[in-house]
Amino acid sequence: MPDDTVINRVAELRRELNYHNHRYYVLDDPVISDQDYDRLLQELRQIEEEYPELVTPDSPTHRIGGDPADGFVQVEHRHTMMSLGNVFDDESLEAWHRRVKNLLDDANFSMTCELKIDGLAVSLVYQDGVLVQGATRGNGFVGENVTHNLRTIRTIPLSLQGSSPSYLEVRGEVYMPVDSFRRLNEERAERGEPLFANPRNSGAGTIRQLDPKVTASRNMQIWVYSLNDAGDSPCPADHWETLEWLKSLGFRVNPLNRLCRTLEEVKEYYREWVEKRHELPYEVDGVVVKVNPFNFQNALGVVGREPRWATAYKFPAERAVTRLLEIGINVGRTGSLNPYAILKPVIVSGATVQHASLHNEEDIRRKDIRVGDWVTVERAGDVIPQVVGPIRDRRSGAEVEFTMPENCPECGTTVVKPEGEAMHRCPNSSSCPAQFFELLKHFVSRGAMDMDGLGEQWCRILIDKGFVSTVADLYYLEKDKLLELDRMGDRLATKILDNIEASKTRPLPRILFALGITHVGAEVAELLTQRFASVGQLAEAAEEDLIGIDGIGPKIAESIYNYFQVKENLAIIEKMAQSGVKLHHDIEIVDPNDLPWHGLTFVVTGTLTTMTRREAEGRIKALGGSATSSVTRKTAYLVAGASPGSKLDTANRLGTMVLDEAAFSRLLESPSKALQALPEAQA
Ligand code: NAD
Repeated sequence: MPDDTVINRVAELRRELNYHNHRYYVLDDPVISDQDYDRLLQELRQIEEEYPELVTPDSPTHRIGGDPADGFVQVEHRHTMMSLGNVFDDESLEAWHRRVKNLLDDANFSMTCELKIDGLAVSLVYQDGVLVQGATRGNGFVGENVTHNLRTIRTIPLSLQGSSPSYLEVRGEVYMPVDSFRRLNEERAERGEPLFANPRNSGAGTIRQLDPKVTASRNMQIWVYSLNDAGDSPCPADHWETLEWLKSLGFRVNPLNRLCRTLEEVKEYYREWVEKRHELPYEVDGVVVKVNPFNFQNALGVVGREPRWATAYKFPAERAVTRLLEIGINVGRTGSLNPYAILKPVIVSGATVQHASLHNEEDIRRKDIRVGDWVTVERAGDVIPQVVGPIRDRRSGAEVEFTMPENCPECGTTVVKPEGEAMHRCPNSSSCPAQFFELLKHFVSRGAMDMDGLGEQWCRILIDKGFVSTVADLYYLEKDKLLELDRMGDRLATKILDNIEASKTRPLPRILFALGITHVGAEVAELLTQRFASVGQLAEAAEEDLIGIDGIGPKIAESIYNYFQVKENLAIIEKMAQSGVKLHHDIEIVDPNDLPWHGLTFVVTGTLTTMTRREAEGRIKALGGSATSSVTRKTAYLVAGASPGSKLDTANRLGTMVLDEAAFSRLLESPSKALQALPEAQA
C-alpha cells in the first residue's frame, strides 16, 4: 500500500504536469525545459508502475497532448494520433527491441530510422487527390481544424500527383526552420514582445492561430512520415515502401530516413545524427525507430497512448554548468538594450559557448540570475544559447544583482522604458552609433534592401570613415571614394554600387521594413502596404487610421506615427526619393475612407457561436470600422454574444445600438446598411 507521502507526491506531479501540458500544448509557451518535463513524467510513470492502484484514466501518463483550443473548429480523427514511447540510451533501446522480438516470436524484422522533427504533428486528408482537411493532433482524438493555415505551406501539396486513392490520410510534422525562427524572435525582441522558447513552440503558435496571412509569412515546412488510411486502395506492405509511394504522390518525405536491417545499424544512425544534428536547418530531438513490416506493426498494436512498434530514441540534453562572469549590454537597431551573459567558456554539445541570451531585465529578475552565479546553459539546436537559471546552492554570497544601466552604454543618452514594454531603450535613434550601425546592417540585409557585397564589416567602415551617416547616404556613394578604402577593389566597388542601384526598385513592403521603424517587422510592413500605396501616404496617416488595420495595435500605430513626426526621418526619406528610390507601389489600394464602415466604432462582447471575438473584430476592421474594448458615447454598435456582462448594461445606459449575433451576421452580408441603421446623433 502506498503511504501518504507517495499519494501526495502523485497528486503533486499530476498537478504540475497538467499545468505544463497546458502551457506547452495549448498556450505554446512552456515555462520549463523538455528535459525537466520528461523527468517529472518519468517519476510519475515509475510510481504508477510500482503502485498500479494509483493509476487513473486521466493521469498525464495516459494522455496525449492537450485539448483543442477555443476558437478552432474541432476535428475528430478517424484514427487516434498517438504519442511515442521514449528511450534515452542504448540499453533501453535494446530492451525495447528485445520486447518487440519476443512478442513477434523471435522473428527478424527491418526497422526504419527517421529523424524526430521537433515541430507540430498534423494530419492531412485528401479526397480524390485534393487536400480537404488539415488538423492538429490535439488530444489525439480531437484536434483543431487548421486547413486554412496549412494551405499556405508551399511544401504541402494541395493536389496530388499521379493516380491517388479516393481517400488518403497522411501524417507529418510541420516545423519552422531555425533561420526563420531566429528572424522571428529578433523581430519580436525589437518589438519588446515575449520571445518564443524554441522553433517548436513558435511553429506550433504559427499554425494554431487564426490568421493564415501570418502562417504564410513565416516560411513553415513539412516532412510527411506516415500513411494512416488509403481507403480501399492497395498499399505497400511495409512502412519504407509506403514512404517511397508517398514521395511519388508529391509529399515531402525526408531523404535522410534510412532502412536498417539490424539494431547495430539503428545505433549507427543515432550516433551519426547526435553528432551532426546541428548541421540541419531544422530542429530534431531524437530518432524515431519503427518496425518496418505492417503485419508486424499490426500484431504489436498499441499500449496506452503509444504504439508498441515504434520508439523515440531521444538525443541527450544539451546543457552545461558554468560561471556567469558579467552581464553585457547590446544596443539593438531600434535602441533596445539587450542584456547578454558573458560566461566562462564551456562546451555544450560540441561547441564552445561564451555568450548566452538573457532576454530582458524582467526575465533576469524572474529567474533570479546574479552576476557571479553558477548557471545552467542550454543550447537548443542551432539556436542562440540561453541561460536557464542559477544554481542557488552554489552561491557564496558575493553574487551581485543586476540592474539596467541608466545611460546608453554606446552614446550616454538617458535610457527609457516605455510603459507596458519589457525592453529598456535608448531614445537617441538618430545619432546613437550603435543604433545606426544596427540599422545600416538591417537596411542592406537580404530581407530588406538586399545590397549584396555590403557586409557587416563594410557597414562599420563606411560609418567610421564618415561616408554614411544616414541610410539615404548609401545612394550617394561614389566609386572613387569607395576605391580609397583598404581592400576595396574595382570589382567589389562596382558590385556594391550596382546592388545599391538595383535596390531602388524593391517592393514597397521591403522598403518599409528596411527603414527599421520600431515594431514594423516584415509582417507589419506587408499589412501596411495593403492599405497605403506609398511611404508618403503612410507618413500622413493618423494613429486612428493605423489602428483600424487588422493586425496593427495601438503600440505599433503609435510607433509608426511617431517615426514620421521626426523631421530627420522625413529628410532621409526625401533624400532617398531624390536619388530615385521608388517609395510607392503600383497596385490599386482601396482608400480607407471609401470602406463602408469607415468611422464606425464597434465593441464585441460575450461568446459568439459562428466566429471568435477576434474574427469578428477582424471582419469589422476589414470593412473599415474600428473595434475597441469599452463602450463609450462614441461606440456605434455593441455586438453582444451570449453572456455579454457589464458592457451590455453600459450600452443600454448610453443608448448604444445593440446587435445580437444574427443581426451582426446580416450586417456583415450587407455592410452598407450599417450607416442607414444608425441614429443621426451617432452617424
Ligand atoms: P513526442 O514529441 O516525444 O513524440 C511524438 C511525436 O513525435 C509525434 O506526435 C510526432 O509529432 C513527432 N514526430 C516527429 N518526427 C516523427 C517521425 N518521423 N515519425 C513519427 N513521429 C514523429 O511525444 P509528445 O507526446 O508529442 O510530446 C512529448 C514531448 O513534449 C516531450 O519531448 C516533452 O518533453 C514535451 N513537452 C514539454 C513540456 C514542457 O513544459 N516543456 C510539456 C509537455 C510536453
